[in-house]
Amino acid sequence: MSRDFKQEIKNLETRHLRRQLRIVESPSDTTIIIEGRQFISMASNNYLGLANHPAVNRAAIEAIEQWGVGAGAARLISGTMTPHHQLEQDLAQFKQVEAALTFGTGYTTNLGLIPALIDRDGFILADRYCHASLIEACRLAKAKLRVFHHNDVEHLENLLKKREKAWPTLVVTEGVFSMDGDLAPLPELLALCRQHEATLVIDDAHGTGVMGENGRGTIEHFGLNPQDLIQMGTLSKAIGTSGGYVAGPASLKDYLINTSKAFIYTTAQPPAIAGASSTAIRIIQREPARRERLRTNRNDLHASLTGMGFQLADSQSPILPIIVKSPERALEMSQALYEAGVYVPAIRPPTVPKHSSRLRLTVSSEHTQEQLENVVRSLQEAGQTLRVI
Ligand SMILES: *Cc1c(COP(=O)(O)O)cnc(C)c1O
Repeated sequence: MSRDFKQEIKNLETRHLRRQLRIVESPSDTTIIIEGRQFISMASNNYLGLANHPAVNRAAIEAIEQWGVGAGAARLISGTMTPHHQLEQDLAQFKQVEAALTFGTGYTTNLGLIPALIDRDGFILADRYCHASLIEACRLAKAKLRVFHHNDVEHLENLLKKREKAWPTLVVTEGVFSMDGDLAPLPELLALCRQHEATLVIDDAHGTGVMGENGRGTIEHFGLNPQDLIQMGTLSKAIGTSGGYVAGPASLKDYLINTSKAFIYTTAQPPAIAGASSTAIRIIQREPARRERLRTNRNDLHASLTGMGFQLADSQSPILPIIVKSPERALEMSQALYEAGVYVPAIRPPTVPKHSSRLRLTVSSEHTQEQLENVVRSLQEAGQTLRVI
């Protein structure tokens, strides 16, 4: 091996950018066990407590008993079983679109979607804060790619005006941004796309189940018509399972089945995961109280943190990032909280831009008031000791 991996890891270490896996010894919940110790977890995307919900678990167990563990083949061969078909119908109904198509993960959904929509003759404009999977997907598409300043409609408009008229164009953004928790200005983006004959594609990984009256996502939050854009999302955040999907016109689904490599050349999702996802989507629709509890918890914690003087990103969601700038400081804060029994990850470059390292807290509907008070106390102590507040 000509590359010195040890040296490369050392280089990361000295810049406080080395990352390591932590083994969690318990299911995803508001408390988790690490190294035999119990922590309050502010570190999962399990917003509605569905990742380890008894009814969702039972649906998976029953589906395993009926359908087995593996799908045995790719979707187009013999891997599309009744639970996959049912889940796609449930997703289409939930998202109020004609059709949905599921993929193995959210990451591969983006890899399968964007290059199927556009090729080297096209033009993609992506928000600077788009998730790594979207950026990878845009590169894979080989279209001309330009990045617009985060949520900057004016900058986007300038780039659209400069484009060659003949170029088919996608505008790519997120509903709820995963590292900042803010929302894309979808109504303005949609109007601009209409005006300039571009197609708007949104990644609603963090909006689904969370935003909107019925949890249908960021499109519902803004009162937009889901027929006017293309959306993808994940089953791995609020829905609590695993996988991703595209929701849109039936013709798009048909087209993706025929052209999307990340859909065609991979084994179908395990049927039990599809079955569990259908049950989770039903719970999301049947139990709006979960979303209300999530909102209350989020608003309470947001008020406490800003009240104490923490500098928060401009979040409008259960993602509450405390910006501490340097990666070293973010690690120190995370470590101090760890010692206090609160688990919050330090998010550093390249996941976020330089000088914007942060503690990223995510709130769940299942956090108790007592747990959140404990988190606030620990944050205040750590913040004062380390002079973040
Ligand atoms: C988590 C996430 C993904 C990837 O989804 P997985 O199901 O975890 O692969 C894609 N886009 C965004 C914005 C995400 O936050």
